[in-house]
Amino acid sequence: MTVDTKQYSLLIDGALTAGAESLDVVNPATGQAFATYPRASAQDLDRAVNAAARAFSSWKLTDIGHRKALLRQAGDIILTHADELAAIFTREQGRPLPLALQEVQGAGQWFHATAALDLPVDITEDTQTRRIEVHHVPLGVVCGIVPWNFPVLLAAWKIAPAILAGNTIVLKPSPFTPLCTLRIGELLKDVFPKGVLNILSGGDELGPMMSAHKGFAKITFTGSTATGRRVMEAASRDLKRVTLELGGNDAAIVLPDVDPAKVSEQLFMGAFFNSAQVCVATKRLYVHDDIYDRVRDHLVTLIENAPVGDGSQQGILFGPVQNLPQYNRVNAMIEEARAEGLTLHQGTIPSGNGYFIPLTLVDNPPESSRVVQEEAFGPVLPLLRFHSVDEVIARANDTEYGLAGAVWSADIEQAARIAARLDTGTVWINQNLQSTPLTPLAGHKQSGIGVENGVYGLMEFTQPKAIYIPKDTASVV
Ligand code: NAD
Repeated sequence: MTVDTKQYSLLIDGALTAGAESLDVVNPATGQAFATYPRASAQDLDRAVNAAARAFSSWKLTDIGHRKALLRQAGDIILTHADELAAIFTREQGRPLPLALQEVQGAGQWFHATAALDLPVDITEDTQTRRIEVHHVPLGVVCGIVPWNFPVLLAAWKIAPAILAGNTIVLKPSPFTPLCTLRIGELLKDVFPKGVLNILSGGDELGPMMSAHKGFAKITFTGSTATGRRVMEAASRDLKRVTLELGGNDAAIVLPDVDPAKVSEQLFMGAFFNSAQVCVATKRLYVHDDIYDRVRDHLVTLIENAPVGDGSQQGILFGPVQNLPQYNRVNAMIEEARAEGLTLHQGTIPSGNGYFIPLTLVDNPPESSRVVQEEAFGPVLPLLRFHSVDEVIARANDTEYGLAGAVWSADIEQAARIAARLDTGTVWINQNLQSTPLTPLAGHKQSGIGVENGVYGLMEFTQPKAIYIPKDTASVV
């Protein structure tokens, strides 16, 4: 095993700073630590928040055209360094290299696409006597908290709109995947005025310290629903604004008029991409009774032949589960399903100490089983039989989550009618896992509060400010 000896640094007030302490980063494909990263202290957090507050006083006054230009430059830099970043990504996150590269490039493109957005000025009245303008002004210092499953793209989803709207930001990657984000901080160090972008990595204590810090005007958080509730509780003390992108238990509904062979590969990737560690992955796959057996057989073949392994090797499509707690949790779910006597179909995994879990299909478990009820966030997928549309919609909606869902059918109008009845923020018809920089991603129910992406997402980094402008000065002179 080669060790990454690079000194990764915090970015505070435009300067790279070594933390007083450091922590290990583990490669999930080997289970071994290969690099260290700085652990930010409470003093580092104060310094970053103070720097961001100082920077905000002038950054908020800058022309949006200038901010757009700097965001485009940031996107260019990420794209130029995409190969280097992807190699770091695969080692710390586990995703196979070509797919890691796609995420890094996606992040660069997201900076570009966000830079093309504009903040509207709304006119609510324009009469002979006055005009009322509603401007969307920045909030202040934003706290960004990111999970380990899409560490680079989700950081871009927070940094770019926060800065475009005229805020400054202190962003924290997950303790499991800090390296790419720290390297991006280093690469972007001189792009923005000092203090506009600050990156802090740390241990488990840093997230709670940040969500409780009085210097933040807003928290933009992506992670589990349980943590989201804690973040909102902490934010409530100072009425910080929150955007929470949380968990999901997404249903896909497969109607009997599709070709089982054709859809199975798409269903398979929609469920298992990134070893199923995707908030909007298919986590409950409902297949009509008429084609259930054929879809299952295709999926079993795909699972048995899936190349699972170390993502730095060629030809690998699925890496390990990203971290040990998640590995233990998903394995426990699989063992519980086995102990209940449920039918499992499993693929194979390489030997060694990596956090590999065989891709697992659970064949028509009861709706009440844990694999159906809980978000696994790992490669275990319940395949569920249904008979009627009304029945399957009721089952799909019978969850506290409301993130996304999918409908598969040759009859697009019927699929659209079903889509309209699913209680989720996104529904795909005959596709999966899509998102675009212009389209809001909004978690309904316990999947979140607020939205990311597009103008809808950009507005979450602003507050409305109404200005009443008279048409003449008769009332004062
Ligand atoms: P997590 O909630 O454990 O951690 C997310 C981040 O929050 C990490 O950076 C962590 O260090 C930090 N954190 C932990 N406790 C905190 C606290 N008390 N206060 C503030 N920050 C704290 O989530 P995870 O395991 O990293 O990610 C997986 C979850 O994220 C899944 O539930 C998944 O569905 C969800 N997710 C949602 C979306 C979405 O857009 N809706 C996208 C990706 C992932």
